[in-house]
Amino acid sequence: YEKQYEQHWKKLQQQLKRENMEGFRNEFLDMHSYDQAMFFIEQKKSIRLQIYTYLSPEEIADIMESIDEEEQTRELISEMDPRFASMVLAEMSADNAVDILNEMDKDHIASFLTIMDTSAADEIKHLLHYEEKTAGSIMTTEFIATYKTNTAKQTMQQLKEQAPDAETIYYLYVLDEDKRLVGVLSLRDLIVAPEDTRIERIMMEKVVAVSAGKDQEEIAQMMRDYDFLALPVVDFQDHLLGIITVDDIMDVMEEEASDDYSKLAGVSDMDKPNDT
Ligand code: ATP
Ligand code: MG
Repeated sequence: YEKQYEQHWKKLQQQLKRENMEGFRNEFLDMHSYDQAMFFIEQKKSIRLQIYTYLSPEEIADIMESIDEEEQTRELISEMDPRFASMVLAEMSADNAVDILNEMDKDHIASFLTIMDTSAADEIKHLLHYEEKTAGSIMTTEFIATYKTNTAKQTMQQLKEQAPDAETIYYLYVLDEDKRLVGVLSLRDLIVAPEDTRIERIMMEKVVAVSAGKDQEEIAQMMRDYDFLALPVVDFQDHLLGIITVDDIMDVMEEEASDDYSKLAGVSDMDKPNDT
């Protein structure tokens, strides 16, 4: 496998040298986005600048989302043409874009948000309001919701429409007529239900939810205790604000673990060895 990997990288580098955009795209986009990211960050800046011109903002956004170090992603975003960078941020899921923006100074954030298309900018602005390390700051607003009076068939149709943009399609959150969160069901629950069943008959009514101000460490603990793949975030009136998925929580646990490690070893974040 290693050998194959090496050959693949050589091939990609040759295609870049020959400025063969089509060939590069074909080979590169075939890889998993994590592998794309590994190749990408190993390149010299000049090569990365070339790659930005070969890929769409959406394709670059996938790579950015596979890089765990926000500091590194921030540097990459900063080396891009600002207009292109803002399109990349807009294509990322809003919570990840916010994580990166939070590493930047206020003026940079403001300038990115002014050139970004308004719907993406609004979502990001909304998330930027929440305090760091709370549910609100790590949630994403790309969830799937349905109404309790809808049938399974209607919900399935709706799911098809919303799925491309959703962070996870595994849980569907159920709202009442006041848009309050009143239930949840899994994709499995939906699939096995007869088409004309109303959602309120198959949903789980005792929804475990967290408030937007809840500390991320407590959420990680809840995620472990309940074993859910995602948790809904609600305001004080039970309106659904967003969801936190297990992959967001894995990032939190890593962050908290390395904070604890630094404290234990008596070193600051600065001289902490890189865990790569
Ligand atoms: P099972 O484990 O029963 O086979 P599953 O594997 O399809 O179900 P799980 O992720 O294990 O799905 O979720 C189990 C059940 O938990 C689902 O039926 C879902 O409705 C419910 N559920 C998901 N999220 C929540 C939540 N936040 N609060 C309460 N129940 C939830
Ligand atoms: Mg299960």
